[in-house]
Amino acid sequence: MLHPLIADPSATRHILKKFKLRAVKGLGQNFLIDAQIVRRIVDAAEISEGEDVLEIGAGIGSLTQGLLEAGANVTAIELDKKLPAVLKETLAGYENFRLIEGDVLKINLSELMPKTFKVAANLPYYITTQILLALLEKNLPATKIVTMVQREVAERMTAVPGSKIYGALSVAVQLRSEPRIAFDVPPESFLPPPEITSSVVVCDVRKPPFEIRDEEFFTKVVRAAFAQRRKTLLNSLIGAGFNREKILSALEVSGVDASRRAETLSLEEFAKLSAALQN
Ligand code: SAM
Repeated sequence: MLHPLIADPSATRHILKKFKLRAVKGLGQNFLIDAQIVRRIVDAAEISEGEDVLEIGAGIGSLTQGLLEAGANVTAIELDKKLPAVLKETLAGYENFRLIEGDVLKINLSELMPKTFKVAANLPYYITTQILLALLEKNLPATKIVTMVQREVAERMTAVPGSKIYGALSVAVQLRSEPRIAFDVPPESFLPPPEITSSVVVCDVRKPPFEIRDEEFFTKVVRAAFAQRRKTLLNSLIGAGFNREKILSALEVSGVDASRRAETLSLEEFAKLSAALQN
């Protein structure tokens, strides 16, 4: 069956008009209208026939269609109650498509995707970070996470220690994956065009490169350390309620100078520090 292309300016306008829809800004709706970009996202995800893919925010199906055409079994989550009726029509005839209606942050993803899968998504901007953390911190069987995010978020995901934008998100992403910015996407590739440049980030998921005994505690320490970026580690951790003597001894055990700031610590130093603080 030949399906009309959804990721196209006039097709998208036609679909929105037909269903009397307007992109909802509050839901981060910027629909892809550039088939080339859809293709490049599908290529970046290295989809092979029969592979399970989770898409977050199906919209009217622009990226979903590319994933289905590549042979993926797509499970898509969509919050907007008006869109299932649209998707039923735009993706009619594709058999390997399953739509889950609801909020990605409230759905139990381990239950939904119990076997190995990949993620491909043009994420809603207002909850990008929460979604990325939900995907990474729950140790799901995801092998590759390919997401379209704001350029600035992509830079934070891939930032290295010592850079001004290295922070809790960089640590969370790099602890569990190897991220890289695949390519940038200009506002004209979307309807409506967002005010920012977007980037597609590919995260190859892997186990942390060193042992983290208690990931929850590790995350708590990292967030506390970055909570007040301009303070020294010692003061940030005191500010987060840790005991001063305990911090000083943990810093010594882990070989980290008390005057350093969070943004200079490598992932491994954070791991040593959190282990020492927990002892
Ligand atoms: N995938 C489509 C595309 O590329 O054209 C739409 C992408 S649009 C940037 C983000 C989509 O996420 C919207 O369809 C929006 O309704 C949906 N969305 C927003 N918040 C959501 C949430 N909490 N859970 C699931 N989907 C959500």
